[in-house]
Amino acid sequence: PLVLGIESSCDETSVGIVRGEQLLANEVASSMELHARFGGVVPEVASRAHLEAIGPTLRRAVETADIDLSELDAVAVTAGPGLMGSLVVGLAAAKTLAAVLGKPLYGLNHLVGHVAVDLLDHPAGEPARPLARPTLALLVSGGHTQLLTVGDITGDVAEIGTTIDDAAGEAYDKVARLLGLPYPGGPVIDEAAQGGDPEAIRFPRGLTAPHDMARHRFDYSFSGLKTAVARWVETRRLEGGEIPVADVAASFQEAVADVITAKAVDAARHHGIEHMIIGGGVAANSRLRGLLGERTAAAGIELRRPRPGLCTDNGAMIAVLGAQVVKAGLEPSGLGIGADSGLPVGTVVVRD
Ligand code: ATP
Ligand code: MG
Ligand code: FE
Repeated sequence: PLVLGIESSCDETSVGIVRGEQLLANEVASSMELHARFGGVVPEVASRAHLEAIGPTLRRAVETADIDLSELDAVAVTAGPGLMGSLVVGLAAAKTLAAVLGKPLYGLNHLVGHVAVDLLDHPAGEPARPLARPTLALLVSGGHTQLLTVGDITGDVAEIGTTIDDAAGEAYDKVARLLGLPYPGGPVIDEAAQGGDPEAIRFPRGLTAPHDMARHRFDYSFSGLKTAVARWVETRRLEGGEIPVADVAASFQEAVADVITAKAVDAARHHGIEHMIIGGGVAANSRLRGLLGERTAAAGIELRRPRPGLCTDNGAMIAVLGAQVVKAGLEPSGLGIGADSGLPVGTVVVRD
């Protein structure tokens, strides 16, 4: 099926077009630069930027895909989770398109889109590798840090672990800020860490002590790590010493990558799952990719790492999830659906 997907849950306005598992277009406009001086995404600023970007982005996607909108089989859109004021812009655009064209509308779960996108990670014209079942999905971004078990992408998805405070990307952004590095912090810390010693400072691995493991074995926590980095930097400043930015960055990055990968592999083993997929902006992190590769290989787990451009928020991930849902014969959502900022991962297709 030919499906157009709209994504606007956070700071990317994106429209993707797929034919089944073939990627035809994936246009992304990000308002990240507008948020730089605040050190994080500002919801009001993001929703206004979505309003300005949605029209041009849609037009570019249709031109790139070289299709006529009347050929579409369905319109898919992120219905949640995400920022309310951002979600409603994409949803309004999708509803309008579906109504004007007389096409079915599917309101979909953003997190499940991050998993479905793997179907697009193959050379153009070649068939897609089907998603392995079951798969453990590790989603790490500015807004999420989650472990999901995925039996069937169109309906059997469950959360088995999540962060109890900050998301991994948020921790990167906050630590960058206290080191005086620009936003977004992920890529700059990754870069700075290349010249540092990851064992210079032993930062805490959240929720790994025995009493925490009893209740939060597969959950994450990064606020204690952020505080530990802040305290270390402050102490060094009070002592009048230079801050070894590369060593702090490398040691922080090591703590994040270590705890994320250890818990993900533990979860896969515990659930008897032999396949893992990673998604979200932090999946671009070099140490995380490297360490996860080593640890999954040692545990006999097949790891899929979609290319970075497909890991960050994009419309094609929603379009390809829409195509799977259409193929599975699921009923459209209908034009009455609303955005749900806290949409649970168990709901793949939203109903009104
Ligand atoms: P959502 O959480 O809804 O998916 P988002 O916009 O916060 O939305 P993404 O766009 O997927 O998430 O990712 C952005 C985050 O990824 C930022 O926090 C950024 O610092 C982080 N990031 C990007 N590149 C890297 C990297 N190389 N290493 C670590 N973090 C990175
Ligand atoms: Mg983003
Ligand atoms: Fe996302």
